[in-house]
Amino acid sequence: MKLTAWGRYPQIKANGVTFETRAQLGRLLSSTDPVIPYGMGRSYGDSALNPKVILTNRFDKILGFDQKTGLLHVECGVTLADIIDIFLPRGWFLSVTPGTRFITVGGAISSDVHGKNHHKVGCFSRFVHYLELMLPSGDVLHCSPDENGDLFRATCGGMGLTGIILTAAIQLQPVRSGFIRETDIRCRNLEEAFHQFEANAASTYSVAWIDCLQRGGNIGRSILMLGEHADTGHLAPKFRTPLPMPITLPGLLLNRYSVAMFNRFYYRSYPNYVEDRLTPMEPFFYPLDRITAYGRMYGRHGFTQYQLALPKESSYEGLRTIMDRIAAEGIGSFLGVLKLLGPGNDNYLSFPLQGYTLALELKIEPRLFRVLDELDRIVLDHGGRLYLTKDVRMGRDMFIRGYPRWKEFESVREKYGLKSKLQSLQSERLGI
Ligand SMILES: Cc1cc2nc3c(=O)[nH]c(=O)nc-3n(C[C@H](O)[C@H](O)[C@H](O)COP(=O)(O)OP(=O)(O)OC[C@H]3O[C@@H](n4cnc5c(N)ncnc54)[C@H](O)[C@@H]3O)c2cc1C
Repeated sequence: MKLTAWGRYPQIKANGVTFETRAQLGRLLSSTDPVIPYGMGRSYGDSALNPKVILTNRFDKILGFDQKTGLLHVECGVTLADIIDIFLPRGWFLSVTPGTRFITVGGAISSDVHGKNHHKVGCFSRFVHYLELMLPSGDVLHCSPDENGDLFRATCGGMGLTGIILTAAIQLQPVRSGFIRETDIRCRNLEEAFHQFEANAASTYSVAWIDCLQRGGNIGRSILMLGEHADTGHLAPKFRTPLPMPITLPGLLLNRYSVAMFNRFYYRSYPNYVEDRLTPMEPFFYPLDRITAYGRMYGRHGFTQYQLALPKESSYEGLRTIMDRIAAEGIGSFLGVLKLLGPGNDNYLSFPLQGYTLALELKIEPRLFRVLDELDRIVLDHGGRLYLTKDVRMGRDMFIRGYPRWKEFESVREKYGLKSKLQSLQSERLGI
Protein backbone atom coordinates (compact mmCIF):
# COMPACT_ATOMS: atom_id res chain seq x y z
CA MET A 1 0.00 0.00 0.00
CA LYS A 2 0.97 3.64 -0.47
CA LEU A 3 1.42 5.21 2.94
CA THR A 4 1.79 8.77 4.11
CA ALA A 5 0.82 10.88 7.12
CA TRP A 6 -1.05 14.19 7.36
CA GLY A 7 1.55 16.28 5.51
CA ARG A 8 1.45 13.89 2.53
CA TYR A 9 5.25 14.05 2.58
CA PRO A 10 6.96 11.64 2.28
CA GLN A 11 4.87 8.98 0.57
CA ILE A 12 6.25 5.47 0.81
CA LYS A 13 5.34 1.93 -0.18
CA ALA A 14 4.55 -0.04 2.94
CA ASN A 15 3.13 -3.31 4.09
CA GLY A 16 0.30 -2.46 6.50
CA VAL A 17 -1.06 -5.22 8.74
CA THR A 18 -4.04 -5.09 11.07
CA PHE A 19 -4.98 -7.04 14.20
CA GLU A 20 -8.16 -7.52 16.19
CA THR A 21 -6.88 -9.68 19.04
CA ARG A 22 -3.83 -9.73 21.29
CA ALA A 23 -2.83 -13.13 19.92
CA GLN A 24 -2.83 -11.81 16.35
CA LEU A 25 -0.69 -8.85 17.38
CA GLY A 26 1.72 -11.14 19.22
CA ARG A 27 2.20 -13.17 16.04
CA LEU A 28 2.79 -10.03 13.95
CA LEU A 29 5.41 -8.81 16.38
CA SER A 30 7.25 -12.13 16.38
CA SER A 31 8.34 -11.64 12.76
CA THR A 32 11.87 -10.30 12.41
CA ASP A 33 11.12 -7.14 10.42
CA PRO A 34 11.14 -3.86 12.33
CA VAL A 35 7.68 -2.28 12.62
CA ILE A 36 5.99 0.88 13.86
CA PRO A 37 2.36 1.36 14.92
CA TYR A 38 0.13 3.59 12.76
CA GLY A 39 -3.07 5.12 14.17
CA MET A 40 -4.98 7.69 12.12
CA GLY A 41 -1.82 9.10 10.48
CA ARG A 42 -2.59 12.58 11.81
CA SER A 43 1.03 13.10 12.77
CA TYR A 44 2.47 15.29 10.06
CA GLY A 45 5.79 13.67 9.23
CA ASP A 46 7.43 10.26 9.29
CA SER A 47 7.06 9.14 12.90
CA ALA A 48 4.41 6.56 11.95
CA LEU A 49 6.06 5.51 8.68
CA ASN A 50 8.15 2.42 8.05
CA PRO A 51 8.22 -0.26 5.31
CA LYS A 52 6.12 -2.37 7.70
CA VAL A 53 3.43 -0.77 9.86
CA ILE A 54 0.92 -2.18 12.32
CA LEU A 55 -2.44 -0.48 11.75
CA THR A 56 -4.32 -0.12 15.02
CA ASN A 57 -7.70 1.02 13.71
CA ARG A 58 -9.43 -2.34 14.16
CA PHE A 59 -8.47 -2.68 17.80
CA ASP A 60 -11.10 -0.18 18.85
CA LYS A 61 -13.41 -1.37 21.60
CA ILE A 62 -14.63 0.61 24.57
CA LEU A 63 -13.85 -1.68 27.50
CA GLY A 64 -15.46 0.12 30.43
CA PHE A 65 -16.64 3.42 31.82
CA ASP A 66 -17.34 4.56 35.35
CA GLN A 67 -20.10 7.18 35.13
CA LYS A 68 -19.37 8.28 38.71
CA THR A 69 -15.66 9.03 38.27
CA GLY A 70 -15.33 9.51 34.49
CA LEU A 71 -12.60 6.86 34.16
CA LEU A 72 -12.71 5.35 30.66
CA HIS A 73 -10.92 2.16 29.58
CA VAL A 74 -10.43 1.76 25.82
CA GLU A 75 -8.44 -0.11 23.20
CA CYS A 76 -5.78 1.93 21.43
CA GLY A 77 -7.61 2.35 18.11
CA VAL A 78 -10.57 4.19 19.64
CA THR A 79 -10.54 7.78 18.38
CA LEU A 80 -11.15 10.97 20.30
CA ALA A 81 -14.12 11.54 17.96
CA ASP A 82 -15.62 8.21 19.14
CA ILE A 83 -15.17 9.26 22.76
CA ILE A 84 -16.83 12.64 22.20
CA ASP A 85 -19.73 11.10 20.27
CA ILE A 86 -20.48 8.63 23.06
CA PHE A 87 -19.63 10.51 26.22
CA LEU A 88 -20.30 14.20 25.60
CA PRO A 89 -24.08 13.62 25.62
CA ARG A 90 -23.56 11.97 29.04
CA GLY A 91 -21.74 15.04 30.37
CA TRP A 92 -18.08 13.98 29.93
CA PHE A 93 -15.38 15.48 27.73
CA LEU A 94 -11.66 14.89 27.13
CA SER A 95 -9.37 16.41 29.77
CA VAL A 96 -6.88 17.32 27.03
CA THR A 97 -7.63 17.54 23.32
CA PRO A 98 -5.42 18.55 20.41
CA GLY A 99 -6.70 20.56 17.42
CA THR A 100 -8.18 17.49 15.72
CA ARG A 101 -10.52 14.85 17.09
CA PHE A 102 -9.59 12.32 14.40
CA ILE A 103 -6.71 10.71 16.27
CA THR A 104 -6.47 7.46 18.20
CA VAL A 105 -5.90 7.13 21.92
CA GLY A 106 -2.67 5.24 21.10
CA GLY A 107 -1.49 8.17 18.95
CA ALA A 108 -2.48 10.71 21.61
CA ILE A 109 -0.35 8.93 24.23
CA SER A 110 2.59 8.27 21.91
CA SER A 111 2.85 11.95 21.01
CA ASP A 112 1.76 12.98 24.52
CA VAL A 113 -0.41 15.59 22.84
CA HIS A 114 -1.24 18.95 24.37
CA GLY A 115 -4.20 21.25 23.91
CA LYS A 116 -5.22 24.84 24.46
CA ASN A 117 -5.20 24.18 28.22
CA HIS A 118 -1.60 23.02 28.58
CA HIS A 119 -0.76 26.04 30.75
CA LYS A 120 -3.42 24.84 33.22
CA VAL A 121 -3.34 21.04 33.15
CA GLY A 122 -0.39 19.74 31.13
CA CYS A 123 -0.36 16.95 28.53
CA PHE A 124 -2.62 14.01 27.70
CA SER A 125 -0.43 11.59 29.70
CA ARG A 126 -1.33 13.34 32.94
CA PHE A 127 -4.83 11.84 32.56
CA VAL A 128 -3.65 8.32 31.73
CA HIS A 129 -4.13 6.24 34.89
CA TYR A 130 -2.42 3.26 33.29
CA LEU A 131 -1.76 1.66 29.94
CA GLU A 132 -1.04 -1.85 28.72
CA LEU A 133 1.94 -2.16 26.42
CA MET A 134 2.79 -5.15 24.21
CA LEU A 135 6.54 -5.54 23.74
CA PRO A 136 8.07 -7.22 20.66
CA SER A 137 8.51 -10.36 22.81
CA GLY A 138 4.70 -10.59 23.05
CA ASP A 139 4.77 -9.81 26.78
CA VAL A 140 2.14 -7.34 27.94
CA LEU A 141 3.18 -4.95 30.70
CA HIS A 142 0.91 -2.83 32.85
CA CYS A 143 2.47 0.65 33.01
CA SER A 144 1.67 3.72 35.09
CA PRO A 145 3.76 6.38 36.80
CA ASP A 146 4.21 3.90 39.71
CA GLU A 147 4.38 0.56 37.92
CA ASN A 148 7.06 0.01 35.26
CA GLY A 149 7.45 3.78 35.56
CA ASP A 150 10.47 3.98 33.24
CA LEU A 151 8.51 2.33 30.44
CA PHE A 152 5.52 4.61 31.10
CA ARG A 153 7.72 7.71 30.91
CA ALA A 154 9.34 6.45 27.71
CA THR A 155 6.03 5.47 26.11
CA CYS A 156 4.19 8.75 26.72
CA GLY A 157 5.76 10.92 24.04
CA GLY A 158 7.85 7.96 22.80
CA MET A 159 6.50 8.01 19.23
CA GLY A 160 5.62 4.31 19.10
CA LEU A 161 9.22 3.23 19.73
CA THR A 162 8.57 1.34 22.97
CA GLY A 163 5.89 -1.14 21.90
CA ILE A 164 2.23 -1.20 20.98
CA ILE A 165 -0.07 0.53 23.47
CA LEU A 166 -2.94 -1.98 23.67
CA THR A 167 -5.33 -0.28 26.05
CA ALA A 168 -5.41 2.78 28.28
CA ALA A 169 -7.50 4.03 31.19
CA ILE A 170 -8.02 7.75 30.78
CA GLN A 171 -9.71 10.33 32.96
CA LEU A 172 -12.49 12.38 31.34
CA GLN A 173 -13.66 15.71 32.79
CA PRO A 174 -17.29 16.48 33.65
CA VAL A 175 -18.95 19.24 31.60
CA ARG A 176 -22.41 20.80 31.79
CA SER A 177 -22.64 21.87 28.16
CA GLY A 178 -21.26 21.13 24.70
CA PHE A 179 -20.56 24.84 24.27
CA ILE A 180 -17.68 27.13 25.12
CA ARG A 181 -17.85 30.75 26.23
CA GLU A 182 -15.34 32.27 23.84
CA THR A 183 -13.61 35.64 24.17
CA ASP A 184 -11.55 36.99 21.24
CA ILE A 185 -8.97 39.74 21.53
CA ARG A 186 -7.18 41.32 18.59
CA CYS A 187 -3.50 41.99 19.37
CA ARG A 188 -1.51 44.46 17.26
CA ASN A 189 1.84 42.76 17.77
CA LEU A 190 3.74 40.11 19.71
CA GLU A 191 4.22 42.33 22.72
CA GLU A 192 0.49 42.84 23.03
CA ALA A 193 -0.15 39.12 22.43
CA PHE A 194 2.27 38.13 25.23
CA HIS A 195 0.73 40.69 27.53
CA GLN A 196 -2.76 39.29 26.86
CA PHE A 197 -1.66 35.65 27.23
CA GLU A 198 -0.14 36.43 30.62
CA ALA A 199 -3.01 38.63 31.78
CA ASN A 200 -5.42 35.81 30.89
CA ALA A 201 -3.32 32.92 32.20
CA ALA A 202 -6.24 31.97 34.47
CA SER A 203 -8.42 31.17 31.42
CA THR A 204 -9.04 27.47 30.94
CA TYR A 205 -8.22 27.56 27.23
CA SER A 206 -6.08 30.00 25.27
CA VAL A 207 -4.63 30.00 21.78
CA ALA A 208 -3.70 32.65 19.23
CA TRP A 209 -3.80 32.66 15.47
CA ILE A 210 -0.76 34.62 14.37
CA ASP A 211 0.06 36.43 11.14
CA CYS A 212 3.66 35.45 10.47
CA LEU A 213 4.22 37.70 7.50
CA GLN A 214 4.15 40.96 9.46
CA ARG A 215 7.36 42.88 10.16
CA GLY A 216 8.60 45.78 12.27
CA GLY A 217 6.09 47.05 14.83
CA ASN A 218 3.43 44.62 13.57
CA ILE A 219 5.45 41.44 14.11
CA GLY A 220 3.27 38.88 15.84
CA ARG A 221 -0.05 40.54 15.13
CA SER A 222 -2.62 38.00 16.21
CA ILE A 223 -6.04 37.06 17.49
CA LEU A 224 -6.12 35.54 20.95
CA MET A 225 -9.02 33.19 21.62
CA LEU A 226 -9.91 32.32 25.21
CA GLY A 227 -12.46 29.75 26.32
CA GLU A 228 -14.37 28.47 29.33
CA HIS A 229 -16.79 25.56 29.47
CA ALA A 230 -20.30 26.98 29.37
CA ASP A 231 -23.07 26.12 31.80
CA THR A 232 -25.78 26.82 29.26
CA GLY A 233 -26.52 25.21 25.91
CA HIS A 234 -27.27 21.53 25.45
CA LEU A 235 -24.74 18.72 25.78
CA ALA A 236 -24.75 17.41 22.26
CA PRO A 237 -24.26 20.12 19.65
CA LYS A 238 -24.06 18.52 16.23
CA PHE A 239 -20.50 17.83 15.05
CA ARG A 240 -20.59 18.29 11.30
CA THR A 241 -19.40 15.68 8.82
CA PRO A 242 -16.15 16.94 7.29
CA LEU A 243 -16.35 18.19 3.72
CA PRO A 244 -13.92 16.63 1.27
CA MET A 245 -11.24 18.71 -0.47
CA PRO A 246 -12.00 17.37 -3.95
CA ILE A 247 -8.78 18.17 -5.80
CA THR A 248 -5.12 18.87 -5.19
CA LEU A 249 -4.57 22.54 -5.95
CA PRO A 250 -1.45 23.72 -7.78
CA GLY A 251 1.12 24.57 -5.07
CA LEU A 252 1.85 27.88 -6.83
CA LEU A 253 -1.48 29.27 -5.65
CA LEU A 254 -0.09 29.40 -2.14
CA ASN A 255 2.61 32.06 -2.17
CA ARG A 256 3.65 35.05 -0.06
CA TYR A 257 1.06 37.29 -1.76
CA SER A 258 -1.95 35.01 -1.42
CA VAL A 259 -1.01 34.16 2.17
CA ALA A 260 -0.50 37.86 3.05
CA MET A 261 -3.90 38.65 1.54
CA PHE A 262 -5.60 35.84 3.45
CA ASN A 263 -3.93 36.90 6.70
CA ARG A 264 -4.97 40.53 6.29
CA PHE A 265 -8.54 39.49 5.58
CA TYR A 266 -8.65 37.03 8.49
CA TYR A 267 -7.21 39.51 10.99
CA ARG A 268 -9.71 42.16 9.97
CA SER A 269 -12.62 39.75 10.06
CA TYR A 270 -12.40 39.81 13.88
CA PRO A 271 -13.62 42.79 15.92
CA ASN A 272 -11.18 44.25 18.48
CA TYR A 273 -12.85 42.47 21.35
CA VAL A 274 -15.72 40.02 21.74
CA GLU A 275 -16.58 38.63 25.16
CA ASP A 276 -18.29 35.38 26.13
CA ARG A 277 -19.67 34.38 22.74
CA LEU A 278 -21.40 30.98 23.05
CA THR A 279 -19.57 28.72 20.58
CA PRO A 280 -20.14 25.00 19.95
CA MET A 281 -17.11 22.87 20.83
CA GLU A 282 -16.37 21.86 17.26
CA PRO A 283 -15.39 25.25 15.78
CA PHE A 284 -13.61 26.17 19.02
CA PHE A 285 -11.47 23.05 19.37
CA TYR A 286 -11.42 21.58 15.87
CA PRO A 287 -11.70 24.27 13.16
CA LEU A 288 -9.43 22.27 10.84
CA ASP A 289 -11.56 19.13 11.03
CA ARG A 290 -14.14 20.83 8.85
CA ILE A 291 -12.36 19.80 5.64
CA THR A 292 -10.93 16.32 5.10
CA ALA A 293 -7.45 16.32 3.55
CA TYR A 294 -7.31 20.12 3.50
CA GLY A 295 -3.58 19.61 2.87
CA ARG A 296 -4.38 19.20 -0.80
CA MET A 297 -4.39 22.96 -1.08
CA TYR A 298 -0.62 22.89 -0.51
CA GLY A 299 -0.09 21.18 -3.84
CA ARG A 300 1.20 17.79 -4.85
CA HIS A 301 4.51 17.97 -2.98
CA GLY A 302 2.72 18.12 0.38
CA PHE A 303 3.42 20.20 3.46
CA THR A 304 4.92 20.08 6.90
CA GLN A 305 4.36 21.73 10.24
CA TYR A 306 7.27 23.37 11.98
CA GLN A 307 6.42 23.47 15.67
CA LEU A 308 8.86 24.76 18.21
CA ALA A 309 8.78 25.45 21.94
CA LEU A 310 10.92 28.06 23.69
CA PRO A 311 11.43 28.61 27.42
CA LYS A 312 9.55 31.60 28.77
CA GLU A 313 12.58 33.78 29.41
CA SER A 314 13.74 33.58 25.78
CA SER A 315 10.33 33.27 24.08
CA TYR A 316 9.76 36.89 23.16
CA GLU A 317 13.21 37.49 21.71
CA GLY A 318 13.33 34.06 20.00
CA LEU A 319 9.90 34.33 18.43
CA ARG A 320 10.55 37.83 17.13
CA THR A 321 13.78 36.66 15.50
CA ILE A 322 12.09 33.61 14.00
CA MET A 323 9.12 35.55 12.65
CA ASP A 324 11.34 38.23 11.22
CA ARG A 325 13.30 35.54 9.38
CA ILE A 326 10.12 33.91 8.08
CA ALA A 327 8.68 37.19 6.86
CA ALA A 328 11.99 38.06 5.16
CA GLU A 329 11.95 34.70 3.34
CA GLY A 330 8.24 35.07 2.56
CA ILE A 331 7.49 31.49 3.58
CA GLY A 332 4.77 32.44 6.05
CA SER A 333 1.72 30.26 6.30
CA PHE A 334 -1.91 31.08 6.78
CA LEU A 335 -1.89 28.73 9.73
CA GLY A 336 0.32 30.10 12.48
CA VAL A 337 -0.63 29.09 16.01
CA LEU A 338 0.82 30.40 19.27
CA LYS A 339 0.13 28.80 22.65
CA LEU A 340 1.19 29.33 26.22
CA LEU A 341 2.74 26.21 27.78
CA GLY A 342 2.80 25.29 31.44
CA PRO A 343 5.58 23.29 33.12
CA GLY A 344 6.97 20.24 31.31
CA ASN A 345 6.48 16.74 32.73
CA ASP A 346 8.66 13.80 33.64
CA ASN A 347 8.38 11.91 30.35
CA TYR A 348 11.66 11.57 28.46
CA LEU A 349 10.49 12.87 25.08
CA SER A 350 7.35 14.89 25.76
CA PHE A 351 7.50 18.13 23.83
CA PRO A 352 6.14 20.95 26.02
CA LEU A 353 8.43 23.04 28.20
CA GLN A 354 7.32 26.04 30.20
CA GLY A 355 7.09 28.95 27.79
CA TYR A 356 5.50 29.38 24.37
CA THR A 357 5.01 27.18 21.34
CA LEU A 358 4.63 28.35 17.75
CA ALA A 359 3.35 26.04 14.98
CA LEU A 360 3.52 26.98 11.31
CA GLU A 361 2.18 25.02 8.39
CA LEU A 362 4.46 25.27 5.39
CA LYS A 363 4.29 24.01 1.84
CA ILE A 364 7.14 21.71 0.79
CA GLU A 365 9.25 23.63 -1.71
CA PRO A 366 12.93 23.45 -2.67
CA ARG A 367 14.21 26.25 -0.40
CA LEU A 368 12.12 25.29 2.62
CA PHE A 369 14.52 22.92 4.37
CA ARG A 370 17.42 25.37 4.05
CA VAL A 371 15.32 28.06 5.77
CA LEU A 372 14.19 25.61 8.47
CA ASP A 373 17.83 24.67 9.14
CA GLU A 374 18.44 28.36 9.88
CA LEU A 375 15.42 28.47 12.17
CA ASP A 376 16.70 25.37 13.99
CA ARG A 377 19.80 27.30 14.98
CA ILE A 378 17.70 30.15 16.37
CA VAL A 379 15.56 27.64 18.30
CA LEU A 380 18.66 26.01 19.81
CA ASP A 381 20.28 29.36 20.62
CA HIS A 382 17.15 30.19 22.62
CA GLY A 383 17.07 26.87 24.48
CA GLY A 384 14.13 25.38 22.55
CA ARG A 385 13.13 22.20 20.75
CA LEU A 386 10.93 20.91 17.91
CA TYR A 387 7.84 18.71 18.24
CA LEU A 388 8.56 15.14 17.10
CA THR A 389 5.01 14.43 15.95
CA LYS A 390 5.15 17.29 13.43
CA ASP A 391 8.73 16.70 12.33
CA VAL A 392 9.91 15.25 9.04
CA ARG A 393 13.44 16.61 8.70
CA MET A 394 15.29 17.50 11.92
CA GLY A 395 18.79 16.09 12.27
CA ARG A 396 20.22 14.07 15.16
CA ASP A 397 22.09 17.04 16.60
CA MET A 398 18.92 19.13 16.84
CA PHE A 399 17.13 16.22 18.51
CA ILE A 400 19.84 15.48 21.06
CA ARG A 401 20.27 19.10 22.04
CA GLY A 402 16.53 19.74 22.20
CA TYR A 403 15.72 16.59 24.20
CA PRO A 404 18.41 16.24 26.90
CA ARG A 405 16.71 13.15 28.40
CA TRP A 406 17.12 11.15 25.18
CA LYS A 407 19.75 8.93 26.83
CA GLU A 408 17.25 7.74 29.44
CA PHE A 409 14.85 6.97 26.59
CA GLU A 410 17.58 5.00 24.85
CA SER A 411 18.41 3.04 28.03
CA VAL A 412 14.78 1.96 28.32
CA ARG A 413 14.80 0.87 24.68
CA GLU A 414 17.92 -1.19 25.35
CA LYS A 415 16.69 -2.61 28.68
CA TYR A 416 13.52 -4.05 27.10
CA GLY A 417 15.11 -5.10 23.77
CA LEU A 418 13.06 -2.66 21.68
CA LYS A 419 15.68 -1.08 19.50
CA SER A 420 15.92 -3.56 16.64
CA LYS A 421 12.16 -4.28 16.50
CA LEU A 422 10.49 -0.86 16.68
CA GLN A 423 11.68 1.63 14.14
CA SER A 424 10.26 4.43 12.05
CA LEU A 425 11.74 6.53 9.28
CA GLN A 426 12.01 9.25 11.91
CA SER A 427 13.86 7.12 14.46
CA GLU A 428 16.36 6.05 11.79
CA ARG A 429 16.95 9.66 10.78
CA LEU A 430 17.44 10.67 14.42
CA GLY A 431 19.71 7.70 15.07
CA ILE A 432 17.67 6.32 17.99
C1 LIG B 1 -5.33 19.32 12.19
C2 LIG B 1 -4.39 18.80 13.26
C3 LIG B 1 -4.29 19.47 14.46
C4 LIG B 1 -3.43 19.00 15.46
N1 LIG B 1 -3.35 19.68 16.64
C5 LIG B 1 -2.53 19.26 17.62
C6 LIG B 1 -2.45 19.93 18.88
O1 LIG B 1 -3.14 20.93 19.10
N2 LIG B 1 -1.62 19.42 19.83
C7 LIG B 1 -0.88 18.29 19.63
O2 LIG B 1 -0.16 17.88 20.54
N3 LIG B 1 -0.93 17.63 18.45
C8 LIG B 1 -1.72 18.08 17.45
N4 LIG B 1 -1.80 17.40 16.26
C9 LIG B 1 -0.97 16.19 16.09
C10 LIG B 1 -1.72 14.89 16.47
O3 LIG B 1 -2.53 15.09 17.59
C11 LIG B 1 -0.69 13.81 16.79
O4 LIG B 1 0.21 13.66 15.73
C12 LIG B 1 -1.29 12.44 17.14
O5 LIG B 1 -0.29 11.62 17.66
C13 LIG B 1 -1.90 11.75 15.93
O6 LIG B 1 -2.52 10.55 16.33
P1 LIG B 1 -2.80 9.36 15.31
O7 LIG B 1 -3.73 8.40 15.93
O8 LIG B 1 -3.18 9.92 13.99
O9 LIG B 1 -1.36 8.69 15.26
P2 LIG B 1 -0.35 8.48 14.03
O10 LIG B 1 -0.15 9.77 13.34
O11 LIG B 1 -0.77 7.33 13.23
O12 LIG B 1 0.95 8.12 14.85
C14 LIG B 1 1.59 9.09 15.67
C15 LIG B 1 2.64 8.40 16.55
O13 LIG B 1 1.96 7.55 17.48
C16 LIG B 1 2.44 6.20 17.39
N5 LIG B 1 1.32 5.31 17.70
C17 LIG B 1 0.09 5.31 17.13
N6 LIG B 1 -0.67 4.35 17.71
C18 LIG B 1 0.10 3.73 18.65
C19 LIG B 1 -0.10 2.66 19.58
N7 LIG B 1 -1.27 2.01 19.67
N8 LIG B 1 0.92 2.31 20.37
C20 LIG B 1 2.11 2.95 20.33
N9 LIG B 1 2.36 3.96 19.48
C21 LIG B 1 1.37 4.35 18.66
C22 LIG B 1 2.97 6.09 15.96
O14 LIG B 1 3.94 5.08 15.84
C23 LIG B 1 3.56 7.47 15.75
O15 LIG B 1 4.84 7.56 16.27
C24 LIG B 1 -2.64 17.83 15.24
C25 LIG B 1 -2.75 17.15 14.02
C26 LIG B 1 -3.61 17.62 13.04
C27 LIG B 1 -3.71 16.89 11.72
